[in-house]
Amino acid sequence: MELIGDVKTYEWGKLGLDSEVAKLAQLNSVKFTAVEGTPYSEFWMGDHPSGPSLLKDTSQELGAFIAENADSANGSMKSLPFLFKVLSIRKALSVQVHPNKEEAERLHAEHPDIYKDANHKPELAIALTTFRALCGFRPLAEIQGLCKKFEPLMQLIGPEIIENLESNTPESLKLCYSKLMTSAQDDITKCIETIRDDAKHQEELEACGLKDIFATLYKDFPNDVGILSIFFLNVINLKPGQAIFLAAKEPHAYLEGDCLECMACSDNVIRAGLTPKFKDIHTLIETLNYNGEPAEKKLFQSAKIDDLELFVPPVKDFSVGKIHIPITNTFYQMRHSKYASILLVLDGEAIIKTRDSGCYLEFYRKSEADNFTAYMAMYNFF
Ligand SMILES: [Zn+2]
Repeated sequence: MELIGDVKTYEWGKLGLDSEVAKLAQLNSVKFTAVEGTPYSEFWMGDHPSGPSLLKDTSQELGAFIAENADSANGSMKSLPFLFKVLSIRKALSVQVHPNKEEAERLHAEHPDIYKDANHKPELAIALTTFRALCGFRPLAEIQGLCKKFEPLMQLIGPEIIENLESNTPESLKLCYSKLMTSAQDDITKCIETIRDDAKHQEELEACGLKDIFATLYKDFPNDVGILSIFFLNVINLKPGQAIFLAAKEPHAYLEGDCLECMACSDNVIRAGLTPKFKDIHTLIETLNYNGEPAEKKLFQSAKIDDLELFVPPVKDFSVGKIHIPITNTFYQMRHSKYASILLVLDGEAIIKTRDSGCYLEFYRKSEADNFTAYMAMYNFF
């Protein structure tokens, strides 16, 4: 059955039809018209109560439909275990981390007003356009090198704490990052402004490939401690089709571009900067994974099974498959599953049909596309 996705207009979204979200929403529903200048940030596909998809035929909420038809439609599960989204980012999202399941349950029990969800939120992001993110701590030697290069940062954190990174232990990084995150705002402001105003530091930023990111973050979030995250976290530039996986405890921030995101059905975020929202610094510091790793290691590798390119993260809540085939194939046999899947078509047109052997896609000859491209979110692939 066809779904109508839920469109979010958070302030950080790309504007009007620059946004992949707006383009998709317009193709998805005749009732949607993109308005110039409006930010279109997220397109939700799933049954999360904060943005449920609707059945196109009846306008029933997907969650209600699945609950009523769990046996036939979703392997007896009363709700979808995953949430599938498209994000269009003009302005950085907050530096954040997601708790693991145990911590999510504890946080929800202790602070239900802030942590409204008791589920964990591992995320997989696949770039649809050139996509930039901060992801995981840099190797400790790299962080030390950057702190030594930028004297104001060294002064803010303290030379001894920076020297201590030499031990290459998670504890030394925890001490360093918590010093940064708990510094007084006046000191943070002074550090950021000195780096901004000093010609030598600007040259150094340029040499490290961080000048544009620094300037953009400064413009959007002046003097926010999150700007200094660029010296601690890996900067990852994804080409369309490349992916990163954000496991529990992995600090990250999406900076710009369009991506597809699949996650466990949850909204559980601990924020640490680049946001006017509540920052829970104490929980953040205790939650993070302090093992530094080089940027190259952060790329998530897909596997190919027949025509399907598979992204299978180490959690059972979801996998994502990419179908990319010439429409001269006329039809495509889908993998059989008793659980509900969501298929997002990006190129080409197809009708989904069923027969004894399961579902298959039949391609429209009238489609202008040479290839059919779609991403499918599914539960429990293996
Ligand atoms: Zn996240």
